[in-house]
Amino acid sequence: MIPRVILKPRRARPLFARHPWVFVTSIERVDGDAEAGAEVEVVSHEGRTIARGLFNPFSAIRVRLYRWDGGPLDEAFWHDRLAAALRLRTAVLKLPAPRAAYRLVFSESDQLSGLTVDRYDRWLVVQFTSLALHSRRELLLAQLAELTGAEGIMLRTERGIAEQEGLELDDGLVAGSLPDEPVEIVENDLTFLVDLRTGQKTGFYLDQRDNRKAVAAYTPGKRVLDLFCYTGGFGLSALRLGGAASVLGIDASAHAVELARRNAVANRLGTARFEAADVFESLAKLRASSQTFGVVVCDPPKFARHPKAVEDALKGYLRVNRAAVDVLEPDGILVTCSCSSHVDPGLFADVMGQVAELSGRPIQILEQRGQAPDHPVAASCLETEYLKCFVCRVS
Ligand code: SAH
Repeated sequence: MIPRVILKPRRARPLFARHPWVFVTSIERVDGDAEAGAEVEVVSHEGRTIARGLFNPFSAIRVRLYRWDGGPLDEAFWHDRLAAALRLRTAVLKLPAPRAAYRLVFSESDQLSGLTVDRYDRWLVVQFTSLALHSRRELLLAQLAELTGAEGIMLRTERGIAEQEGLELDDGLVAGSLPDEPVEIVENDLTFLVDLRTGQKTGFYLDQRDNRKAVAAYTPGKRVLDLFCYTGGFGLSALRLGGAASVLGIDASAHAVELARRNAVANRLGTARFEAADVFESLAKLRASSQTFGVVVCDPPKFARHPKAVEDALKGYLRVNRAAVDVLEPDGILVTCSCSSHVDPGLFADVMGQVAELSGRPIQILEQRGQAPDHPVAASCLETEYLKCFVCRVS
């Protein structure tokens, strides 16, 4: 018999409702010998079986749940889950190939808590965020290779998560081969170079794909400022799809800015300018020299990594958006983003209210957008809803 994890009283409800995280604080005891990565059965205080999951004695998320129908977590099960994830991106979303780039597996959103896979043309970048799935990596990587025909698979691990889960870092190429040069992908009729070895996250911010296209509707004839531009996604889309008059992109990463410049050349959008600089310093300089823009995009990195950081994160969003409004023309468009799941859309809208108050300029939220659908939101795990992209008119 497999080990059984018995819950404390009144802790079972969200797990019956298919939330996949069993926190250590909900557990009364473990019957049997549950080693790191072991398959376990989770049982309510009254003795009702809830679901099958995988055990991690080192993590606050002590068990991640995968299966509620009583069946085992065997090879066929993982294969079915991966195939279902692939079907969403191909049969349902019809994300274009070749040179496709999309999130193929998004952890809890694909009922594969602890596994994220991004596809860049013929290569995959895999991130494990759970010890138990990491320990099954040989099987999962072989299944991914079989399902996708990938030529190479890279492993990338976020340091903080590795520590939380007790994961050993073994990043690098784990299957097949990878070209020396960045991989070229296509998004909304633009090509982008993606550095799968040393780029941020897995190499490209795929979650903004549809927002880049939507923002282009506001940019014809406008001067566009792309703050936190990374490799130029918003700015180049504004030029190519949106007929912007000019684009200035700012990012602190010199490597990202170099790729942004190469992306501009590759798309024959050589008028785009990209500068490696701190956004706050750049905004102060632009303001001092009275430069203004018709559209400002503000897409900072995650400010709140855990619930306790929300208050400071809100201050950060207020500060950067307040400064962005200062370089926006009257009746300009501010596209403001937050990728902190702990900052919900209501809180983020409140920040924009404060920006309106402090700047003395009314703000209308025209569109409240989110992450692209290859990053779906799991109805049973709303923590998977993380990206906010508000299109605002600032009088
Ligand atoms: N808009 C981008 C993604 C932005 S991710 C896209 O569409 O692809 C956040 C970016 O902010 C990262 O590229 C990071 O290098 C940059 N960054 C973080 N802090 C910064 C700062 N203080 N000034 C400028 N850039 C910063």
